[in-house]
Amino acid sequence: MNHFAPYHRPNSAGWSYWEHELEWDKNFHVQFPSDTLQKKYDFVVIGAGFTGLSTAYHLSLGHPSAQIAIIDKHQPPLGASTRNAGFACIGTVGEFLADAELEEKDVIWDRMKSRWDGLELLRSILGDQAIGYEASGGHELFTSKDSYAKVESHIKLCDEALRARIGRSNWYQPTKVNNFNAIHMPNEGCLQPAKAWQSFAQKCRERSIKLCWGVNVSNIHHHIDGVTIELALDQLHDVISAKAVVLATNAFSSTIKSTDGETSSVQPGRGMVWVTKPLSSLKWRGTFHAEEGYIYFRSVGENRLLLGGARHIDKASEETLSFGVNTKIAAFLKQYMQEILQVSPETIAYEWSGIMGFTSNKNPICKASDSGNEIHAVGLSGMGVALSTELGRSAALLLN
Ligand SMILES: Cc1cc2nc3c(=O)[nH]c(=O)nc-3n(C[C@H](O)[C@H](O)[C@H](O)COP(=O)(O)OP(=O)(O)OC[C@H]3O[C@@H](n4cnc5c(N)ncnc54)[C@H](O)[C@@H]3O)c2cc1C
Repeated sequence: MNHFAPYHRPNSAGWSYWEHELEWDKNFHVQFPSDTLQKKYDFVVIGAGFTGLSTAYHLSLGHPSAQIAIIDKHQPPLGASTRNAGFACIGTVGEFLADAELEEKDVIWDRMKSRWDGLELLRSILGDQAIGYEASGGHELFTSKDSYAKVESHIKLCDEALRARIGRSNWYQPTKVNNFNAIHMPNEGCLQPAKAWQSFAQKCRERSIKLCWGVNVSNIHHHIDGVTIELALDQLHDVISAKAVVLATNAFSSTIKSTDGETSSVQPGRGMVWVTKPLSSLKWRGTFHAEEGYIYFRSVGENRLLLGGARHIDKASEETLSFGVNTKIAAFLKQYMQEILQVSPETIAYEWSGIMGFTSNKNPICKASDSGNEIHAVGLSGMGVALSTELGRSAALLLN
């Protein structure tokens, strides 16, 4: 007998500004077991963020007659895809220098190119209007002379490295913004993440991909001819089978148990974001990165300011899968908002958090299990909107 349960979203998660801007069915019921969810699929993708949608979309291109389903615990997805800052970015000089302490320079520039390729792919699949894309340009901002002095000598080097890899010019140009030293990034843009996600989900539906919400995947069992996937809703359980399964669960990857392959090592990292009410004037236009990318802010629509990040203030506490706001980080960001941006914290109108998934080297994981029937496409780290479309395409290729 079918069970209809009201969908529950954790209270601590709330809705992002982007999610507020769009129409969602926030009070839907989950039918379990679902009449519309078949018992057998060719491919099942777990996680309906950008990575899961891109994986399913590219699987449907490579296997036009395949039966494909995407399953997510939440609608809209509850991780990072509709809760981020909407920067369509590839990385700053300051971030490059921080990463260069741990990695070869070429690895970092190659990752920047992958982000660029991923953004271009997303724009080509959905179109700029459907993702709310604006060619806003961006800046890296330096609030102390010392921090700028450290990066200054690397501006030209990074500019030339990207020009050689991507072929455009003017990646990084020294400038001043509101009397602060800055590096202008004319090629950077921004988008409306929830709108982009909604458009991508619609694209998947048009390709007959089944999207199933409100259901948790707990276990994957491997057999000689494929996988069995255990689904749960409250105390109820059901199983479906597939030839292959893709985990696009990013920060939450360790919560699913599988009989084949190791769990991917992805460290959760929570991030918080604010959006103000419309301000009478706003002297920050476009996107801004500061403190090696840990702090970010941008203009939104008619004179709203978005400000977020500062995970570095209390990094250990933010390695969590729980949504919510860290008061220490909030206090730090309020001071930054007041003193550097000269915007009153009393103008904050929206507050939310999202969970990122970090790998040890910021490169996402894209791998097949021993049987080849389980693919992991996880660990998008900080600039995942840019990487997710490419990662989904690569994951789908592993099942060709
Ligand atoms: C505050 C914040 C700001 C950010 N800003 C930017 C930015 O400006 N630009 C940028 O490029 N990137 C940004 N990012 C990063 C980017 O949003 C992510 O890297 C990207 O969205 C990850 O997409 P994903 O599909 O891999 O994961 P997610 O969007 O996290 O999706 C994973 C999904 O898996 C589902 N799931 C997990 N476990 C299960 C299970 N057992 N059963 C069923 N479903 C499950 C979850 O419900 C979730 O919906 C930001 C992230 C945060 C948190």
